[in-house]
Amino acid sequence: MSLWEQYLDDYSFPKLKQNIQVDTLIIGGGISGLTTLYYLKNENNICLVESAKIGSGITKNTTGKLTILQGIIYSDLAKNVSLTKSKQYLKSQIKAINLIKEIIKKEKINCDLEKVASYLVAIKKSDEKKLVQEKSFLKKAHINIKDTTFNNNKALKISDSYVFNPLKFLNSLKQILQNKMIYEQTKIDNIIKKDGYYLCTSKDLIIKTKKVIIACHYPFFLFPLLFPLKNHIEKSYLLAWKVNKNEKYSAITTSNPGFSIRFYQDGQNIYKIGLARSHATAFKENDAYNFKMVQKIFNIPANDIVACWSNVDIITNDKLPFIGKIKDNMYILTGYNTWGMTNSILGAKIISDLIKGKDNEFSSLFMLKRYNIAKLKSFFVNSLENILAFTKSKFPYKNWYQSNLKFTKINGKKIAIYTDEKEIEHIVYNECPHLKCSLIFNEIEKTWDCPCHSSRFNIDGKCIKGPSLSDISYKK
Ligand SMILES: Cc1cc2nc3c(=O)[nH]c(=O)nc-3n(C[C@H](O)[C@H](O)[C@H](O)COP(=O)(O)OP(=O)(O)OC[C@H]3O[C@@H](n4cnc5c(N)ncnc54)[C@H](O)[C@@H]3O)c2cc1C
Repeated sequence: MSLWEQYLDDYSFPKLKQNIQVDTLIIGGGISGLTTLYYLKNENNICLVESAKIGSGITKNTTGKLTILQGIIYSDLAKNVSLTKSKQYLKSQIKAINLIKEIIKKEKINCDLEKVASYLVAIKKSDEKKLVQEKSFLKKAHINIKDTTFNNNKALKISDSYVFNPLKFLNSLKQILQNKMIYEQTKIDNIIKKDGYYLCTSKDLIIKTKKVIIACHYPFFLFPLLFPLKNHIEKSYLLAWKVNKNEKYSAITTSNPGFSIRFYQDGQNIYKIGLARSHATAFKENDAYNFKMVQKIFNIPANDIVACWSNVDIITNDKLPFIGKIKDNMYILTGYNTWGMTNSILGAKIISDLIKGKDNEFSSLFMLKRYNIAKLKSFFVNSLENILAFTKSKFPYKNWYQSNLKFTKINGKKIAIYTDEKEIEHIVYNECPHLKCSLIFNEIEKTWDCPCHSSRFNIDGKCIKGPSLSDISYKK
């Protein structure tokens, strides 16, 4: 369970039970979908559908930092995309933080927003040059940035970053939007265009809509756009533990894998959240080992740990999000490169401006059709990673698992069986319905995880995260 899961409130929206016709449909109720609905709340006949519960996707597993100091993104973009785009990206992140502060202030939202210092740390000597480059870029952009040290490592520091509780933020938006047409437990499984409308199906129900906004993190039906080859999935491991003092900072390293830290204070309870061991899902899938390493990196006494979870995000080939129009009246916001707290708000504003026919200075930066060397280079790397993830998934390292996990075949179908502490067998089909990769058992969170495109299934095979649309539960 993530630290934020305890804040998922009991308020729930109904499940859709009949066909409906709307003007605009938003698919996905994470921070992207809900803030888009917030900006479009005065539009006629707008509806949001969420396959599970609002906020229960990637958003509940984030670290919740709001900062412009995002690793070495600016020197990376300047080198691999262009200096102009890098400058624009910085401007966009400043704008995004202001937008979220504006919403919080206007709506008087209590989401424990706190101003903190933010550090960018070079953990290797060889990374110190990267700090110099990032500092030089930020200085030229008039950002107040200082040289400092962090645990004896060279670092950069800015004073005005923020952290917040993303679930408290979403809970307040839910209250504000409670009279809007929102359906939970309603999963869209297909979209077809007919007579100028999109027909979005959810089992045997149809939502007919003029406009559709896809805010479901990993899009489940965009294979024709070669989406899997335009990004890879990065997985990270997080622990939260109780501490005595809120040291009011967040930190991140220049190199990946590195670490990320923040504090969270809710009344008397103070927690530190540490993230480490990030990797592309095509590599290093041993979850239990990775969690152990995180505990070691942050030197956390086992008894102090209050939450332990993993999370994935989409890393695009050129490190810029995908926000904009896919085709007539169809929009998407995704691909945030682990900076979705800022980029979702920005995406929501851009999409709502596009729908209202207003200009937005950042819409061209995140356009889906863009061409640059970084994108082209990573296209080949990602194609190889996809093939590697698929192939590796077919040969799981059996010695990673204890004897309570068995792989077999029944009636020609690949099956995996996990026997729990009470000797109960949990049997699943060992193939992701999305693109047929085999699954990795995550012993700590007790989930079946797809190493290719990040679908997740619970211990008995119920799909808890797309792009898979179906369960893998074994039916005798
Ligand atoms: C380890 C980690 C740490 C991070 N920390 C930070 C941070 O400190 N700061 C920051 O800015 N960003 C951070 N991020 C990134 C950020 O958490 C994500 O980018 C962001 O939460 C994504 O939000 P979302 O709304 O797009 O996706 P989600 O929250 O996943 O929302 C999508 C919703 O769509 C629903 N859905 C899916 N398929 C369907 C369907 N077919 N029909 C209907 N509904 C559907 C899902 O159930 C889900 O609720 C982090 C990411 C990771 C991996």
